[in-house]
Amino acid sequence: MGRLMASTKQLAAREADARFLADHDALTGLANRRRLESLFTAFFAKVQPGVQRVAVACVDLDRFKDINDTLGHNAGDELIKAVGERLKSMLGENDTLARLGGDEFAIMRPVTSDEDATVLADLITDCFSESFLVMGHLIEANASTGLAFASSSNSFGDTIKRADIALYDAKANGRGRLSKFTKAMADEIEHR
Ligand code: GH3
Ligand code: MG
Repeated sequence: MGRLMASTKQLAAREADARFLADHDALTGLANRRRLESLFTAFFAKVQPGVQRVAVACVDLDRFKDINDTLGHNAGDELIKAVGERLKSMLGENDTLARLGGDEFAIMRPVTSDEDATVLADLITDCFSESFLVMGHLIEANASTGLAFASSSNSFGDTIKRADIALYDAKANGRGRLSKFTKAMADEIEHR
């Protein structure tokens, strides 16, 4: 009986783990893309259409493969965790931080002005202004950021796509910087 009770408990714990992992990232415990999308949809379901916007920033570490290659995959994992923790500690309760995969994070923040997005951009810069202590190594990590805005008429997929196009622009123009999505960027990619 005791053994049966324990295994029922274990089963419940495993189910809870599986539920957690359905919308969280296993390495960092942050929201995953699926959860970010749910929160994006839920946000626009409860606000007045056309008034509220969100800023979505896609943040991708620069030359992260070099960390894996020189310090090993475990150190790479620890750096991803450390970046996630530091970003999380800098964000507010209305923000969502997600790990989209690999070395890419996304931050979603409700905004009312372009200035709000500038604050977010400064926050990301500050996050990488100090080095990360990872397995005894001080790592000066940098990241590139792509920023896009969404209102209730934009889909989540399109918003992430636009932030990713801006991220590509930031990478192509020297890394360690933020680019805001413009239509010209999308046109150029289509042209190519
Ligand atoms: P870039 O500056 O262009 O972003 O180059 P990068 O070296 O950072 O490479 P990129 O962002 O294109 O790819 C991220 C790499 O991260 C790919 C893969 O080798 C590695 N990676 C993906 N997931 C994980 C993970 O969970 N742990 C670790 N340690 N490495 C990962
Ligand atoms: Mg990268």
